[in-house]
Amino acid sequence: MIMQVKADLHVHTTYSNDSLITPKELVFFAKKRGLNAVAVTDHNQVEGALKIAKETDFLIIPGIEVNSASGHIVGLNVREVIPKGLSVLETVKRIHAAGGVAVACHPYVLFKGSLGKNVCAEFDAIEVINARAVPFNRSVKKAREAAEQFKLSQVAGTDAHYGPQIGYGYTIIDAEPNVEAITKAIMEGRCQAFGQPVPALINLQQQFQRLRRMIRKFSRS
Ligand SMILES: [Zn+2]
Ligand SMILES: [Zn+2]
Repeated sequence: MIMQVKADLHVHTTYSNDSLITPKELVFFAKKRGLNAVAVTDHNQVEGALKIAKETDFLIIPGIEVNSASGHIVGLNVREVIPKGLSVLETVKRIHAAGGVAVACHPYVLFKGSLGKNVCAEFDAIEVINARAVPFNRSVKKAREAAEQFKLSQVAGTDAHYGPQIGYGYTIIDAEPNVEAITKAIMEGRCQAFGQPVPALINLQQQFQRLRRMIRKFSRS
């Protein structure tokens, strides 16, 4: 029997300064959206991912989103900080040395620090669907073409920074529900990317919540 995992492979928590998602909300919304795993990929750090994985029974895939010198790179199954600012090849090399999967995340999305033409065969996977991509259809099409060109696995995630966004991008992985099996399956291409754009209203609510948080902080100082 083949087991399948449904996972959002790109979520930021409050350990990323720009995200509103608390550890509790992460698990709440992941369950609500029918996921059985979620990858925590905070910007340039792994502290939150490791802490949350320890504190919950829900399957957390520890990860990181690294600001390389030429665009953002997600490392899945990474439990140590990969320094930011290194070249793309060096960043991918370090993710591999850490036992991780190197994902070219949102490679053709505007305004996100994307890799663009720096995508190469050294990656293991391309995030062909990023549910917060702009423009959505065009970036999905270009990313799928690149995945075929470089023969890379295709994954999806939301790049969620607000609880209700979680699960709009998800990957179905043919693997038992544990991090090692999921990692191996993605490396071997036993996964499929699905998703749709996060509805505009939810993104608007995110902006409103951010503003509220800023005002609260400001009025306290
Ligand atoms: Zn990014
Ligand atoms: Zn991100």
